Amino acid sequence: MEIRVVKRQQPKNKPLDSELGFGQYFTDHMFVADYNPDKGWHDPRIVPYGPFEVDPSCMVFHYGQAVFEGMKAYLNKDGEAVTFRPFFHIKRLNRSAERLCIPQLDEGFVWEGLRKLLQLEKDWIPKSEGTSLYIRPFIIATDPYLGVRPSNTYKFFIILSPVGTYYKEGLKPVKIYVTDKYVRAAKGGVGFTKTAGNYAASLYAAEEAARKGYTQVLWLDAKENKYVEEVGTMNIFFKINNVLITAPLDSGTILGGVTRDSVITLVKEMGYAVEERPLSIQEVYEAHEAGELEEVFGTGTAAVISPVGALNWNDRVIEINEGRMGELSQKLYDRITAIQYGKEPDKHGWIEKI
Ligand SMILES: *Cc1c(COP(=O)(O)O)cnc(C)c1O
Repeated sequence: MEIRVVKRQQPKNKPLDSELGFGQYFTDHMFVADYNPDKGWHDPRIVPYGPFEVDPSCMVFHYGQAVFEGMKAYLNKDGEAVTFRPFFHIKRLNRSAERLCIPQLDEGFVWEGLRKLLQLEKDWIPKSEGTSLYIRPFIIATDPYLGVRPSNTYKFFIILSPVGTYYKEGLKPVKIYVTDKYVRAAKGGVGFTKTAGNYAASLYAAEEAARKGYTQVLWLDAKENKYVEEVGTMNIFFKINNVLITAPLDSGTILGGVTRDSVITLVKEMGYAVEERPLSIQEVYEAHEAGELEEVFGTGTAAVISPVGALNWNDRVIEINEGRMGELSQKLYDRITAIQYGKEPDKHGWIEKI
């Protein structure tokens, strides 16, 4: 399908790399496509980034039928623009869409739209170490209708935002509040999808944790309030007695992260045992008591690796690795970013040039 391009008259001023932060600046253009039952996904186009009109009764505003992705483009050491495992993201967008009754997108259609947009916006990929161009594909339901049913029409967008590091603390370990008062996802629900409502539902707990001085919430399973699931909007890993443990995906309550999958692959190659199994918070605390809890870290595209320096579970506070980033956490951060920036060979075929 031909992608129409309407260029912006006057390019915007680009922010300095030092003032990027996360998700505050947007590039000159965006990709848009529409869906209706007659034409399917159609009219793919690249147009100036900016506001667009929809009806106030637009279904997404009322019933939250919306899915998204979060990925990154990097400038590698040879100055080429690359993305990391884009088809993992595109497939996951379709899995999220399916669960939310949103029509599937052709993988090649999304990739071509993304490539063309990135080619046009290549100068927006920041150059300093640790910076990248964050890519936010998303789909919203657009029928002007207040009845509850799946929408018949949708819009698909890709917007781009140059970013620095996710947390202002950088790689400094964060303090995490373990909540057994709120839950993120229950079995049979939408925990495995990137749908807007999951994030809306998580804000209150995160705010409460922030008031107590914690950066994020560690979510336990919804049924027993016992097993560790995710940390904030990241997957979570525990290194106990030289074994790396993370929650399994089969419950449908965990978002299957690209970073999670990459960490598992790399760590196995490094010779560690990895266990994807239910891990109770009790077991984590017992491991700490026994001196066997070595490292805890979150994984996600935005932060890559986010070390956890302390946990608070029912006011029992434990410090992990003396509040410092663990050796394996650091090694994983270094290796994943080295692959992304082309400083380490891409043995797994994770890098796609645009
Ligand atoms: C996006 C996300 C992750 C991390 O996934 P990546 O693919 O590694 O970025 C983990 N948990 C939740 C809830 C998420 O939304």
